[in-house]
Amino acid sequence: MPPPPSVSEDVRVTDLPAGGRNPIGVALGLLGDEWTLLILRHALQGVRLYGGWMRELPISNAVLTGRLGRLTELGLLDRVAYQRRPERFEYRLTRRGRGVWPILLGIWSWELSWVPRYTEALPGMRHQVCGELFSPVLVCGACGEPVGPRNLVGGFGPSGTWERSMPSATTRRRSSGAQRAGFFPQTTALVGNRWSCALLGAAFQGTRRFSDFERQLSAPPVMVADRLRTFADLDVMTPDYRLTAKGLAFFPVVVHTMDWAQTWFRSPEGPAMVYTHRTCGHPFEPRYRCSVCAVRLRGGAIDRVPG
Ligand SMILES: [Zn+2]
Ligand SMILES: [Zn+2]
Repeated sequence: MPPPPSVSEDVRVTDLPAGGRNPIGVALGLLGDEWTLLILRHALQGVRLYGGWMRELPISNAVLTGRLGRLTELGLLDRVAYQRRPERFEYRLTRRGRGVWPILLGIWSWELSWVPRYTEALPGMRHQVCGELFSPVLVCGACGEPVGPRNLVGGFGPSGTWERSMPSATTRRRSSGAQRAGFFPQTTALVGNRWSCALLGAAFQGTRRFSDFERQLSAPPVMVADRLRTFADLDVMTPDYRLTAKGLAFFPVVVHTMDWAQTWFRSPEGPAMVYTHRTCGHPFEPRYRCSVCAVRLRGGAIDRVPG
């Protein structure tokens, strides 16, 4: 008989304090960071050792140590001694950590489709089930139909306010090293810092006016103006603050980030965001299926094909 599955800490949901940052704010504070996304990406490809990330990334010891500490603290990595005398540690992805794969797959796919200069450097995706090059299609977990931003109804739930959904105000210097690494150049401009993340979230919630962005984010006007200009430069937003087709195509990353946040973190008042699929009426759970064979995608079933 196989051994019973081990139930460890990492299958539990983290209860957040009442009235404080909600799951969205916590997730944006963690994932709205270019180094963290790069570290997770390599972890999903099998890197477990400190030296492994040092080899793969132009990252400093201080930055890597800080990010690994944060990922461990929030339960995405488990720091495990794999050798004694001298004692050595490795960082294993927990279920919670592995659960970010749909977010990273969405980023990979978006960069492949919308950042032409970059596509040569980026590997393509092959689905192991059908053996074909594919792209992930966002579908509703309940009915299986493809879903876009206009197919969902809903918004903030009981713990959802703008204030509680904002990532906490840690000061971070711009990490130019990650930009040199250049893995997700435009994604970094979109979600590589907390203001951009929050602003993109607001745009997907239908915010259209400069003063509303400013009020909802409680952000200085100069900051809002700067980010909106960057979004327009990237062609994800029009000069009058509407998401373009390129901006709307980032939707799978946004909904998977919300889904991951609310799967692993919980505010006592209830969900931060509640969405229903308009067509089938069920609560929306994002899933991907293969664009070629239509089978539901699993994180381990995707190969990288050199571009
Ligand atoms: Zn549905
Ligand atoms: Zn397939």
